Amino acid sequence: MGGTFDPIHHGHLVAASEVATRFALDEVVFVPTGEPWQKADREVSAAEDRYLMTVIATASNPRFSVSRVDIDRPGPTYTYDTLVDIREERGDDTDLFFITGADALDQILTWRHSDKLFDLAHFVGCTRPGVEIDTPNIASLPKERMTLLEIPALSISSTACRIRVAGAEPVWYLVPDGVVQYIAKRGLYLP
Ligand code: ATP
Ligand code: MG
Repeated sequence: MGGTFDPIHHGHLVAASEVATRFALDEVVFVPTGEPWQKADREVSAAEDRYLMTVIATASNPRFSVSRVDIDRPGPTYTYDTLVDIREERGDDTDLFFITGADALDQILTWRHSDKLFDLAHFVGCTRPGVEIDTPNIASLPKERMTLLEIPALSISSTACRIRVAGAEPVWYLVPDGVVQYIAKRGLYLP
């Protein structure tokens, strides 16, 4: 599961858990992005902070793990490189599923090596009930290598969490307890 995870929140964790159940996955590997090139317009927290928050949030689940492939690779993050690296790590006989939001999946045709991505993994786009997102491109993606999955509505986003912290509003129960404490300890998202 790829994401910026700035910070990771319960929406990400529920989505990962839903997809894992639906596809009977052995493991969900959370992959924090290095330099997210789609988000070049805003300041993203240090990769190490985002990595550690992801570790804290997933530590108690034996099927969840965190990979450093994207944060250790210099330069902007491209999903093609992520999948090639994970495949190398886990071996050629591993079935890969790339989990992301439907909003991100819609942009897939603009991703690097988009023609080869569907050979590397099955793509799962998470949608939220009642949330209409504009996904004009999804219809043209190969149906047998892609699934849209509706996740129980958790109206949480990292953006909203950052805004709450900046405004001294609580993020308890939006993000795992250890992440609340890590944000405070490191003074993240303060104005
Ligand atoms: P930001 O507000 O900074 O864009 P985000 O909450 O969208 O952050 P990302 O790290 O960008 O978090 O998330 C990775 C993927 O997880 C995105 O493609 C997003 O659509 C999906 N996602 C985020 N929050 C939820 C949620 N509450 N339910 C289902 N999917 C989600
Ligand atoms: Mg987002």
